[in-house]
Amino acid sequence: MAKIIDGKKISQQIKDELKEKAAKLKEQGKTGALAVIQVGQDPASSVYVRNKKNACAYIGIESLAYELPEETTEEELLKLIAELNEKEQVKGILVQLPLPGHICEDKVIQAISPCKDVDGFHPQSVGAMTIGEPGFLSCTPAGIIQLLKRSGVEIAGKHCVIIGRSNIVGKPMALLMLRENATVTITHSRTRNLKEVCQQADILIVAMGKPQFIGAEYVKEGAVVIDVGIHRDENNKLCGDVKFAEVESLASAITPVPGGVGPMTIAMLMNNCVQSIEEE
Ligand code: NAP
Repeated sequence: MAKIIDGKKISQQIKDELKEKAAKLKEQGKTGALAVIQVGQDPASSVYVRNKKNACAYIGIESLAYELPEETTEEELLKLIAELNEKEQVKGILVQLPLPGHICEDKVIQAISPCKDVDGFHPQSVGAMTIGEPGFLSCTPAGIIQLLKRSGVEIAGKHCVIIGRSNIVGKPMALLMLRENATVTITHSRTRNLKEVCQQADILIVAMGKPQFIGAEYVKEGAVVIDVGIHRDENNKLCGDVKFAEVESLASAITPVPGGVGPMTIAMLMNNCVQSIEEE
């Protein structure tokens, strides 16, 4: 039976460390706010935004909520971001994605000042991560690195196979695993023999967005399996990209859904906010 990698517990440890750090910074007169912008009222986005505001409150960072109507124009949103870029007290700017179809996400991401880009999505942040320069790391992949390290999983020299090459998970994940000296294979929808490639993984990171797609036949005995997917099954219960029950019996360690990668993303967002306050 696999060891369950407890993202809830590890994210709580990180948030407690950050709470302490934020309090020390406050004593030195260093404070700041996270501006959270939501356009429209997508219910899933509202849950994520609420969780982010609650995390700020827990750590002791101010959060400023901007809840804009669905009809907000791209120009209006860009204007708000420009204003927040100038506000000294605002140390982080987060625009909840996805945005309504009439707004170009790339334009919005690029409008955020790189020194307030706590999501780590700006091309400058991505570039800095690629060449190992300081900057904000993309939260979900950075959270996965913490999950592995804090669970005692050795990364250096291991073969890591990543399923998915999105800009927010797969690609930055590959770069961070490379930085940790793993040998990295990135797979995607055009990969041939996915099963055989995955069977070679010591660490298998699944970010494909396909509910319960990865079964035991994709997993080498003793592999570490990280499930990034989040879905609702036919009974409205949360599940991941991995068939947890059958993979658990084969893997040496595995993340559950919920309670695995999900809580780590918010913890790492808070880490970026505290880093931004520290570096003011
Ligand atoms: P995405 O943008 O849809 O990317 C999915 C990737 O999987 C693509 O690169 C796609 O390949 C690849 N893929 C799809 N079907 C495949 C197949 N049959 N075989 C091999 N590769 C396949 O998704 P994402 O934004 O990276 O997110 C992935 C999942 O993680 C989603 O369920 C999302 O909800 C979840 N997520 C969770 C968190 C968290 O905090 N826990 C954060 C972000 C995302 P192509 O590039 O060839 O199309």
